[in-house]
Amino acid sequence: MAKIALFPGSFDPFTNGHLDTVVRASQLFDEVVIAVMTNTAKKALFTPDEKVALIEAATAKLTNVRVVAQANGLTIALAHQLGANFIVRGLRNANDLAYESDIARVNQSLDDTIETVFLLASSQYLAVSSSMIKEVAQFGGDVSSLVPANVASALANKFAQVHHD
Ligand code: ADP
Repeated sequence: MAKIALFPGSFDPFTNGHLDTVVRASQLFDEVVIAVMTNTAKKALFTPDEKVALIEAATAKLTNVRVVAQANGLTIALAHQLGANFIVRGLRNANDLAYESDIARVNQSLDDTIETVFLLASSQYLAVSSSMIKEVAQFGGDVSSLVPANVASALANKFAQVHHD
């Protein structure tokens, strides 16, 4: 059976930390499906369509990776729909571990045939989070070493628009 991994997240925006996880997952699994999930608790800077386009361009070289958007609903349900048998999540620190293990246990209780696999964040991306990127970019800081080039331009455009509104 093909090993298909779902990598769900808010990706607001997609960072080099996310990309590193995707590259490593693409070497472990036959196929990786990145799912742009709408997180109702977080107010997003980018629309789901913008996120999908940015992630598609940033991962274009990875032939076994594709991107979908999921408006609402359970990650497990999406995994079923896509025929995924693994869920991949990244871990940066103990906070991520505590939060992610709760979610993984809930998902396991919903369906124990879908295995959650954690990849430890690479040390150079430990401090990279989407919220930190937005904070720095908003005030004109250089985030070009922390996000893919197309995401850096999209951030610059977004905040230029905001300042002109
Ligand atoms: P969510 O809102 O679902 O947590 P995120 O977009 O913040 O979505 O993160 C998606 C996944 O990527 C999570 O598993 C998160 O732990 C992981 N992640 C976030 N930043 C990094 C990073 N710098 N390195 C590796 N994994 C990361």
